[in-house]
Amino acid sequence: MSRSADTRREGPGRTDALVVLSNVNKHFGELHVLQDIDLTIGRGEVVVVIGPSGGGKSTLCRAINRLETIDSGEIFIDGKALPAEGRELAALRADVGMVFQSFNLFAHKTVLQNITLGQLKVRKKDKRAAEERARSLLERVGVASQADKYPAQLSGGQQQRVAIARALAMDPKVMLFDEPTSALDPEMINEVLEVMQQLARDGMTMAVVTHEMGFARSAANRVVFMADGRIVEEATPAQFFGDPRSDRARDFLSKIL
Ligand code: ADP
Ligand code: MG
Repeated sequence: MSRSADTRREGPGRTDALVVLSNVNKHFGELHVLQDIDLTIGRGEVVVVIGPSGGGKSTLCRAINRLETIDSGEIFIDGKALPAEGRELAALRADVGMVFQSFNLFAHKTVLQNITLGQLKVRKKDKRAAEERARSLLERVGVASQADKYPAQLSGGQQQRVAIARALAMDPKVMLFDEPTSALDPEMINEVLEVMQQLARDGMTMAVVTHEMGFARSAANRVVFMADGRIVEEATPAQFFGDPRSDRARDFLSKIL
C-alpha cells in the first residue's frame, strides 16, 4: 500500500492510532502556545510538521514526550494516557524517541556508551546484549567505526546519526525529530536525512519538525502546518505544496520555496 493511501484513515477514532493528541492546550504565561491541538499519528505513519518560528512546533514535540506539561486536553501513546509519574512516566518516555537540533550526546561517554546507557538503566538489559544492539544500530546509521570515540571527535552529521541510534536503542514506538538538521553544516544534512528516510521506509512511526521540504515531499504521509499555536492545515505533501488551502501556508511557502 502506498503511504499516501494511509492518509484516508484520519481522526482520533482510527484503529491504527499510535499517538493521539486531543484538544491539547498549553500556555506560557500570557502566551497560548498550543491551542486546541488535535493530532493523530497512525502506526508507521510519517508526519512532517512545518511552520514559522515561534509557532509551537518544539513545544508540541516536548509535550508528546512529557518534557512539557499541558494545561488541558489529553495525549495518548499507544492507548496510554497521562497523568503518569515515576516508573510509568519513564516507561512512557522510553516509548517516545526524541532527536533534537543540538545532538545532546553525553560528552564524557564514548559513542558506544551513549547507546548502551539507556538500555542498561531503563530497559535493564545485560551489558553484552546492550553492546550487541548498539553495534548493530551504529552499523545501521553508518558510524560503526566510531564506536570507541567521544562525541567531540565526530562531525556534526556523525553525532546526529549517533543520537538517532541512541534513541532507537530504546525500541521506541514513535520517533520525534525536532529540526534534526538545522544545526548541521550543509554537506552533512543529507547523510542524516538519508538515515531518516531509511527509518521511514522501514516502517517507523515518525513526527518530524523540519524545514527540509525535499524530505517532506518524499517521506511524509502527511504535512501538518502549524502557526501561532494552531494546526492551520493538514494535507498530503502533494496537496500542501501544490495547492495550500490557507493564506498563512501560502505566505509561508512563498517565503521559503
Ligand atoms: P517553534 O518550535 O515552532 O519555533 P516553540 O514551541 O519553540 O516554537 O515556541 C513557541 C512560543 O513559545 C515562542 O513564542 C517561544 O518564545 C515560547 N516559549 C517556548 N518555550 C518557552 C518557555 N519555556 N517559556 C516561555 N516561553 C516559551
Ligand atoms: Mg522549534
